[in-house]
Amino acid sequence: SVKGKTAIITGSNSGIGLGIARELAKVGAHVVLNSFTDSEADHKLAADMATEFGTEVRYIQGDMSKGDQCRALIEKAGVCDILVNNAGIQHVAPIDEFPAAKWDAIIAINLTSAFHTTAAALPMMRKAGWGRIINVASAHGLRASPFKSAYVSAKHGIVGMTKTVGLETAKENITANAICPGYVLTPLVEAQIPDTAKEYNMSEDEVIEKVILAKQPSKDFVTVEQIGGIAIFLCSDAAAQITGTAMSVDGGWTAE
Ligand code: NAD
Repeated sequence: SVKGKTAIITGSNSGIGLGIARELAKVGAHVVLNSFTDSEADHKLAADMATEFGTEVRYIQGDMSKGDQCRALIEKAGVCDILVNNAGIQHVAPIDEFPAAKWDAIIAINLTSAFHTTAAALPMMRKAGWGRIINVASAHGLRASPFKSAYVSAKHGIVGMTKTVGLETAKENITANAICPGYVLTPLVEAQIPDTAKEYNMSEDEVIEKVILAKQPSKDFVTVEQIGGIAIFLCSDAAAQITGTAMSVDGGWTAE
């Protein structure tokens, strides 16, 4: 059970990260929220969650595009039983027009941050004799779409890293798994609708129907609560032998 365990979720003041944090807090985990900002709203979010669920919730600022800040997040938390590498950004453009700075930022935040946090968290998990690493990859960790070269590269990369970490920790009561969501209607997806509309010369409604949900045979968005539920399952005893996998939660996208 995750009750009383400490979970650090990177990029968790919004979207899927916040959804996972809330589901973990609901079942009694102590939670560390994170983003690169350090606003009153961030700290209030943590305080309100603590009140709502009666568990310990801290907010620790850290920019996941910087390796030293990734490691500092884990060190500041002081304990890490469950690590959820979730922070991620997106940019949509053809590869020959793709800004190099955006490429670097996506690889840093969506892939390299998980290398640093995992390296910092593993000694704590080994000391505790138990650990769960959950990487929020994507259906784009298993399939590609045009105009998303950096994102698809980072997400395929983190699926590979998940397999490697699963093997390195296989005998240690620690598991590492990736969750590969299809489309979840979060600010990240909402933000790419205008650019995608431009690339495909469509209206924004047409993009949702003909581009986004066209990928998802269920014709429905995945919810953040569902992703949180999968994370809790991966922390359960039933999932103790599940390691190094990429779990699709995509309404059938990757079955095609
Ligand atoms: P979101 O924009 O709502 O959330 C992203 C989170 O990452 C935010 O909390 C943001 O503050 C944080 N973040 C961004 N840059 C950061 C940085 N430098 N340092 C620390 N935190 C940073 O988006 P989301 O849809 O909830 O995405 C969360 C994860 O889920 C991402 O890894 C994304 O690739 C993945 N994902 C999303 C979808 C989807 O359809 N929304 C599908 C598959 C995978």
